[in-house]
Formats: sequence, C-alpha cells, structure tokens
Amino acid sequence: VKDIFETMEYGPAPESAAEALAWLVDQGDRFGHFIDGHFTAPGDGFTSKNPANGEVLATLTQATQGDVNAAVTAARKAQPKWEKLGGHGRAKHLYAIARLLQKHARLFAVLETLDNGKPIRESRDIDVPLVQRHFYFHAGMAQLMDSELPDREAVGVCGQIIPWNFPLLMLAWKVAPALAMGNTVVLKPAEYTSLTALLFADICRKAGLPKGVVNVVTGDGAVGEMIVEHPDIDKIAFTGSTEVGRKIRQATAGSGKALTLELGGKSPYIVFDDADLDSAIEGLVDAIWFNQGQVCCAGSRLLVQEGIAGRFYDKLKVRMDKLRIGNPMDKCIDMGALADPVQLQTVRDMVEGCQDGEIHRVNAQLPAEGCFYPPTLITGLEPSHRLMQEEIFGPVLVSTTFRTPAEAVALANNSRYGLAATVWTENVNLALDIAPKLAAGVVWVNATNLFDAAAGFGGVRESGYGREGGWEGLQAYTKAKGGAKPIKPVLPYSGDRIDAE
Ligand code: NAD
Repeated sequence: VKDIFETMEYGPAPESAAEALAWLVDQGDRFGHFIDGHFTAPGDGFTSKNPANGEVLATLTQATQGDVNAAVTAARKAQPKWEKLGGHGRAKHLYAIARLLQKHARLFAVLETLDNGKPIRESRDIDVPLVQRHFYFHAGMAQLMDSELPDREAVGVCGQIIPWNFPLLMLAWKVAPALAMGNTVVLKPAEYTSLTALLFADICRKAGLPKGVVNVVTGDGAVGEMIVEHPDIDKIAFTGSTEVGRKIRQATAGSGKALTLELGGKSPYIVFDDADLDSAIEGLVDAIWFNQGQVCCAGSRLLVQEGIAGRFYDKLKVRMDKLRIGNPMDKCIDMGALADPVQLQTVRDMVEGCQDGEIHRVNAQLPAEGCFYPPTLITGLEPSHRLMQEEIFGPVLVSTTFRTPAEAVALANNSRYGLAATVWTENVNLALDIAPKLAAGVVWVNATNLFDAAAGFGGVRESGYGREGGWEGLQAYTKAKGGAKPIKPVLPYSGDRIDAE
C-alpha cells in the first residue's frame, strides 16, 4: 500500500474539465443575470478566474439598480402563485431540481472546483451531494408544511446574499428552504464564484420552475447593498463576514424586514489528554485544512491539554508534512488553491505580521502560479493574541494549551464568536459536562464538520443569529398567519441557551 501511495504522489491524470468548459463555451463565456425565467443580455462587468492558475473562465455582469428592481419585481409577481401551489405542488418542483442536480453532479463539481480552487474530491464527494440532500430534504418538508405548520405562511420575497467558500452549498442552504415554504428569491452569489449559481439557474429553467421564483443577479457588495435596501423585499438572509453582517443589520433596522445572519467564527478544537490522539489529528486535518481553511466553522483554534501538548504537536507536524497541495482537479490532493488573490494576500499579511509564537509551515513545493498557501501551525500564542482572536479564513491553525476542563471552557469561550466547537476525549462524562458550557451553535464530540439538511446550523454572539437547516431553518422562512400569533416552535429551540444563562 505504501508503494502505491508513493507512486501516486503526483496523482493520476486530473479530472477532466471538458464538460464544464464546454458548458461555459455554450453560454458564450459571458453571462447576464437570471431574471424572470431567462438570462438577460450580458452587460458591463468583471471576470471570474480559476484561482489555481489565474485563467479567465467567464465574464459576468455587474447588476445595476434596474437589474435588481427587475429581479425583485419578477419575484414579487411570482410569489402568490408559487405559495398557492401548496406544499405538494412546490415539492414536485424541488424534487425535479434535486434530480437534475444529481444528473449533472459531475458538471457542478468540476465547475465549482475550477471557479473556487477547492479539491475536486471535496466538491464531488461533499459539497454537491449535500446540495442534492438539501433539495430532497426540503422537498419532503414542503409536503409536510400544510399538516405540520398550519399556522405559518411564507415571508414573501427573500433577498439572499452568499459568500465564496461553498458557493453552491450556501445557495442550497438558502434557496431550498425558502422555496419549500412558498417564498420567491433574489439571490446574489459572491463575485469570485458565481458560476455554479448561474448553472443552477439554468437547471431551474430546465426543471420547469415557474419564472420569477428564482432570480440570480451577479456583482459585488454594491449589488448586495441594493438588495438589502430594496423596499419590496421582505426578508434578507446573509452568509458572510461579521463586518458586512453588522452593516446589513444596521441597514435593515426599523425597516420591518426579517433577517438571518450566518457570520464568521474562530471555533475551538479542544483535545483532552485521554483523547485518541490519532483520531484527533485526523479530525484536525478535516477541521482546519478542509477547503483550505476557508470554512466558517473551521476548528481554527486548537486548545491542547498541557501534558500531551508536546507529543500532539510533534504528531501533528508529521501529519501536516504529508498533506498534498496542488492542482485542485487532481483527485489525490488534500489542499487546493485559496479562492482569490485578495484572500491569499489577507492570509499572508496576517501570518507574516505575527512576531510571536512558533510557526511551523509545511515545506511542500507549492505550484509556482495560483493562490496557494501552505498548511501552517502557530503554537504558544497568548489567548488575547490577534491571531487567536481574529478569523484568518485560511489554512492556518493557532494553538495554546490548558490545564483543567474549566480552563479549557474559559479559553474556548474567550472569543467574540460562537459558531462551532469540537471536543476530543474518551471520557463521555467529561464531554457531556463541558459541551453545554461552550458558547457555540454546534458542538461536535470526537468528530468535526458534521452537517445535515435536517439539523439546524448557526451561531451565537458575533457569529450571527437564526438557524439554517432542520425545522428551525424552515421557521425562518415563514411567518405566523395573520401576523399576530406567537411562534410555536416544533422542536425546542436551543440555539442561544448558553448566552441566555
Ligand atoms: P463578505 O462578507 O465579504 O461577502 C459575502 C457576500 O456579501 C458577498 O456576496 C459579497 O459580495 C456581499 N457583500 C459585501 N459587502 C456587502 C454589503 N455592504 N452589503 C451587502 N452585501 C455585501 O464575506 P466573504 O469574504 O465572501 O466570506 C467569508 C466570510 O463568510 C467568513 O467570515 C466566513 O466565516 C463567513 N461564512 C459564514 C458561514 C456561516 O454559516 N456562518 C458560512 C460560510 C461563510
């Protein structure tokens, strides 16, 4: 087996990009917006590049106020009819979309990897299957709506703004529940990674989705602002940085718009001295080097119990040195490219500005071109250090040690964020004791990065509020019929329990 792995060091032939490139060529390599069931003529805009080699993939259009108005008008017109279809009627459409997502899974995965730089293994085996799951799950939930949520109705027209780290998956998290509950949407993908959203729009058309139910407008933050400020939008659902989330909260304050915010994180990854260290190391690889560390809930803050810290760091460095970094289209690599040169520079500046602690950087040969950054570990930082407090959003793990469980909890909660936390111990009593004390929307025990469409996901503190997924996520896309009745949760809502205590 060792021999096989050694000969596979540079991987077999990369996954073929032919089908995805052919689709781009078919569209003329230039895209307008998807409004009222058709693509508009391309206008002035910007390019979308492959971050692994800088090649231009397509030219996209920067939406104007007129484009946003047209998308909102189409969504408004379509909404009452879409809601009137009923849960079973809408489910048929969601199932049709889910089946087409399945049928074109490979095309979506390749396009996502080309546009975003993430390893093809991840887009093919994680992102795209989860996207399908979200549409199947929410098709089922649409069918249940009439019987299980009889007092609820759609919010109306939803403006949805998403980031670049999981472009298609973040779209699915937003579009599937919104449509299931009878809303229509105006979605803006991130400017670096809009291609799979446009392919998704094409799929909606092919699935026969009524026009105006899904609208996609492309462009930068200015287009996001137009959506946020549009008077005829009923709800804003945003995933992105805490900084922009704060602006959106201010902009929507007093407007009557519903709002959910899924923001940044600096999630602790706590390893106790009785943990199965090999498993904890593998978990950590997934926690911080999955998607090049550009994961909102990345286990980016390692807290190790003092007695095993030296041994754990040694093992970790050996494992880090084995990570393969390279062409994202190569099925054998562990880490691809960061999503954009701007993000690469941000990560560089943050790490190179750090004069403290001890830095271990993987000594791998990185591709000469493209947005590549080596897996990096920084140990011995003070808990108040900038890199222990701020989200780096790259393949950089920072670490410190603790002595007691109480100190682990105090260090873990010493953060303005509260998205996720991971605990490794063989002592289930210890895990169950500290898990509820951690200020986090989700706590994983002896595991990490577990997601499912049926489980609500979201943060506390500056990681945002509201949940996506599960019953809680569905409720965020409904309102009480008649407006006045109190919300009756289907399942007990537990998201903010820690902060409330
Ligand atoms: P970002 O906030 O810069 O951009 C996100 C989106 O908002 C983009 O589409 C962008 O064009 C748009 N935008 C920018 N300025 C805007 C404005 N003033 N008004 C309206 N829209 C605006 O974030 P990013 O760099 O794309 O994404 C990384 C961030 O997203 C990280 O902080 C990460 O933790 C967070 N994130 C959170 C989750 C979660 O579920 N909590 C999931 C993924 C990413």
